[in-house]
Amino acid sequence: MRNRGYYSQFGGAYIPEILVATFEELVDHFDAAKADPAFWQTYEELMASYSGRPTPLTPAENLSRHFGGAQVYVKREDLNHTGAHKANNVMGQGLLVQRMGKQRVIAETGAGQHGVATATMAAKFGFECTIYMGEVDVARQRPNVFWMERLGATVVPVTEGSRTLKDAINEAFRDWVTNMDSTHYVLGTACGPHPFPEMVSYFQSIIGKEARAQVLAQAGKLPRRVYACVGGGSNAMGIFSGFLDDAVELVGAEAGGYGLDSGRHASRLASNDGSVGIAQGYKTFFLQDADGQMRETHSVAAGLDYIGVSPILAHLQSTGRARFEAVTDEEVVAALALTIRQEGLIPALESAHGFAQAFKELPELSPDDVIIINQSGRADKDIFTVADAFDDPGWRQFIKDKAEQYSA
Ligand SMILES: *Cc1c(COP(=O)(O)O)cnc(C)c1O
Repeated sequence: MRNRGYYSQFGGAYIPEILVATFEELVDHFDAAKADPAFWQTYEELMASYSGRPTPLTPAENLSRHFGGAQVYVKREDLNHTGAHKANNVMGQGLLVQRMGKQRVIAETGAGQHGVATATMAAKFGFECTIYMGEVDVARQRPNVFWMERLGATVVPVTEGSRTLKDAINEAFRDWVTNMDSTHYVLGTACGPHPFPEMVSYFQSIIGKEARAQVLAQAGKLPRRVYACVGGGSNAMGIFSGFLDDAVELVGAEAGGYGLDSGRHASRLASNDGSVGIAQGYKTFFLQDADGQMRETHSVAAGLDYIGVSPILAHLQSTGRARFEAVTDEEVVAALALTIRQEGLIPALESAHGFAQAFKELPELSPDDVIIINQSGRADKDIFTVADAFDDPGWRQFIKDKAEQYSA
């Protein structure tokens, strides 16, 4: 099994001996589900009735005009239940948990989006649910903690290490080792040990399948380029997978934070700061120092600041099949403002990285060219950050009033 799940030199399953049988069980169930045509059909029906799929491919005609005529289409993953593509992965894994006959799910979460999605899935399927979240993230992402708890999940603040996402992942693995018979670990992105990169990409491939058929029907041709933001890499893998065998350029936008020279970013593939290592059960590019200690990352988008990246994307970069670029916080906020104003679309700060990279390249394209931008989610969750970035005085007053109300 350890020879499977490699993509060039990347990937693998570096797991403790005690979890080997659990991973083998998962691989067996995943393989059986994939081989069963009824499984994918059940999955599509569930996503249709519960999460509004297929999501539309929206022509962004005002942006096209603004940038000189190239045809811009936006894949609307923001319209999923819970507001992002994360629903595709958690609902798929939920069906798998049902097939395995387990009753409990656990997950890691950073910004809290994957935690909310997993807690939602657990409520729907009737599973017990525990979410591991760094103590620092629990404090700064209170709205998502609030929803997870309303959805019936137990949120465990992790006090180890930097008390953020990577520590939450370690803690979730610790839980799994003790409770493997009853429990499935719903990993949130196309990272981690095999089969997670493959499995998460498989469920997210619904984005690319739909987008390819939609662009052919609506634009009458394949796109020249497809853009997606890259945190762990699941929404990018999802849309890219629809176009892997086509002559379509695949462009991933990473978090450039304060700029690649600042050292304060989360660009593992586009910067020179990433290096190949093994951590958290798999081999990929990590932001680590010379001793293999993980570095602090920064992005205006909480969902993009992970230290590792999908081994499948690392592979696609190494073979030249996909290209990765970094976009700064400042460029992202400007792209978000423009998209809201021009199209009435409100992409999440994560998704706005894909928009920002496309905006840099659109002026060089011609009106014959078609591009697709994956809008991985919506920005409702980002209102605190966005209002700060826009320096909105009315919002500041609102928060001041609230604070006063609570301190009285
Ligand atoms: C979590 C999240 C991401 C980053 O995750 P990937 O696995 O890289 O897709 C991107 N966009 C949104 C809206 C998210 O919630």
